[in-house]
Amino acid sequence: MKVLVDRQKCTVCGVCVDVCPFSAITLTETSIEVSDACTLCGMCVDTCEFGALSLPDVGAGPGEDLSAFRGVWVYAEWREGLIHKVSYELLSEGRKLADKRGVPLCAVLLGHGLDGTLAHELIAHGADVVYVVDRPELAHFTDEVYGNVLVELIREKRPEILLAGATSMGRSFIPRVAACLRTGLTADCTELDISPEGLLLQTRPAFGGNVMATIVCPHRRPQMATVRPKVMKPVKRDGRTGSVESPTLPEECFRARIEVLEVIPEKDQTAKLTEADVIVSGGRGLRKAENFAIIEELAQLVRGAVGASRGAVDEGWIPPSHQVGQTGRTVAPSLYMAVGIAGAIQHVVGMQGSNVIVAVNKDPMAPIFDVATYGVVADLFDFIPAFIRKIRQDRGEL
Ligand SMILES: Cc1cc2nc3c(=O)[nH]c(=O)nc-3n(C[C@H](O)[C@H](O)[C@H](O)COP(=O)(O)OP(=O)(O)OC[C@H]3O[C@@H](n4cnc5c(N)ncnc54)[C@H](O)[C@@H]3O)c2cc1C
Repeated sequence: MKVLVDRQKCTVCGVCVDVCPFSAITLTETSIEVSDACTLCGMCVDTCEFGALSLPDVGAGPGEDLSAFRGVWVYAEWREGLIHKVSYELLSEGRKLADKRGVPLCAVLLGHGLDGTLAHELIAHGADVVYVVDRPELAHFTDEVYGNVLVELIREKRPEILLAGATSMGRSFIPRVAACLRTGLTADCTELDISPEGLLLQTRPAFGGNVMATIVCPHRRPQMATVRPKVMKPVKRDGRTGSVESPTLPEECFRARIEVLEVIPEKDQTAKLTEADVIVSGGRGLRKAENFAIIEELAQLVRGAVGASRGAVDEGWIPPSHQVGQTGRTVAPSLYMAVGIAGAIQHVVGMQGSNVIVAVNKDPMAPIFDVATYGVVADLFDFIPAFIRKIRQDRGEL
């Protein structure tokens, strides 16, 4: 998507070339060329005194008919042949929103060689309609092609709301989709609701987690939000019915400038935090990187994943992929152990959904004890090795 040039009106004066902050416009002998660097900022449109430049029609704007947009959509992410759990969580939330609005809930499934049962799983989890686009160009995720396809589908079908997971994939291409449609996007929502007028009430932490801000998008459609995994509860599948549609899209949607040569799976399995049922997290109380070994040992023993506070990540003791909290992962395991972690609000917002929280801290006043199910006031260097020994003894390993 780029600025449109009316060649009849263009006088090749070159003013737009100078004002473009992205150097996206070049002069040719007879006209101008706009490159893919164009961000649709509109500076050139405002400057052109001949009315030769315009922005493409990208949907509703202030004063336009928002009622032409109808339905709630969920972008259904999948990995290794399975629907990502966040998609079921979004379908559950989307179902509530769609029922309140009295509109259909639709899921969008993009990929190649997709198992036919995936679309039916989405229906069983709440979707009325599933749009499936199965093309070789979608075999590997790229922002460009996935973004183009979703933009085209939205332009054609005009949903009023689009929800996607705040996963690495969602965070990567959903902002591009919002920018192409020139609509608003609220990232990392923790709560969604709908106003009687149909405004999506998008709530997310702001100002370092101290304020919960509710954001609306009154003039543009669709209203777009990403939601962190595990923040919302999925509904159980049931025997509901729905339809599967395979829309035909223009070929240019599938044109890519990026070729994926190889996909290398992440070696560090312990980083799969959001899926883990047990997490043992370490904080700055560990004092140095080598001391993370006891956290790793305990995590291995209980078949859990290793988490960390930002304090520990900032010290360089463990990679950021392990960080739990506002700027890390949101987790909700059955058991979360916070070892040598103070319990700052930014950490707590990422783990307070855990079923059982055990905190180990030598400071009895540490805020982590406010959210802990069980609190252990002890020096972690005494407690954790003793705890490991006890587990091994009980298993007959010592
Ligand atoms: C915008 C923003 C976003 C942020 N995002 C995140 C985020 O996503 N995740 C996150 O975690 N933080 C985040 N933070 C940082 C957060 O505010 C805290 O600074 C951080 O969580 C502190 O890490 P910590 O608890 O490990 O370290 P500290 O605050 O230094 O606490 C260490 C704790 O270990 C205890 N301790 C020390 N020695 C021992 C011992 N021998 N035995 C037992 N206990 C001991 C201490 O009593 C203390 O409670 C964010 C901050 C901002 C401003």
